[in-house]
Amino acid sequence: MPKKEAKFCPWCGGLLEKKFIQGKERLVCTLCSEIYYKNPLPAATALVLNQDNQLLLGLRAIEPARGMWCLPGGFIEMGETMEQAALRELKEETCIEGKVMSFVGCFYQESRFYGGVIIFGYRIEPVCGEPKAGDDVEEVFFYSLDDLPVLAFEAHRKLVEKLKKQLNL
Ligand SMILES: [Zn+2]
Repeated sequence: MPKKEAKFCPWCGGLLEKKFIQGKERLVCTLCSEIYYKNPLPAATALVLNQDNQLLLGLRAIEPARGMWCLPGGFIEMGETMEQAALRELKEETCIEGKVMSFVGCFYQESRFYGGVIIFGYRIEPVCGEPKAGDDVEEVFFYSLDDLPVLAFEAHRKLVEKLKKQLNL
């Protein structure tokens, strides 16, 4: 899947061109000269364990990494906190409502599709709802921490390792 790259200036609609500025190749508007800075996208994920310490995963129904398992999560939207985003994505993807118990960690990851993503992970306790595939996933399942499938994203693997250390699992 090709990486998405902006072609037009978001302020004036002018064509963007690559220029070497401030020590880096950047996109600059040919009309208004604004530099189009590229920043990593912030995302939030939910690490949900059931009473048997099994971890909730979703099977991705969309690209990138369609057909692979990952933690429920997604991009943080304007006006919401990282915690709120993790809870919202959890509900949208798995139909589970939860409450945030602790911050697990935060990792930066290069993404072929999005450029760079910063992923915040939270341990969330399920409060209500039965696990059911919602948006963007085909299937949801609680996996034993000792027998997890390969996760789609490096940052998710690191978050799971950090969670296991924090809980001595
Ligand atoms: Zn412009």
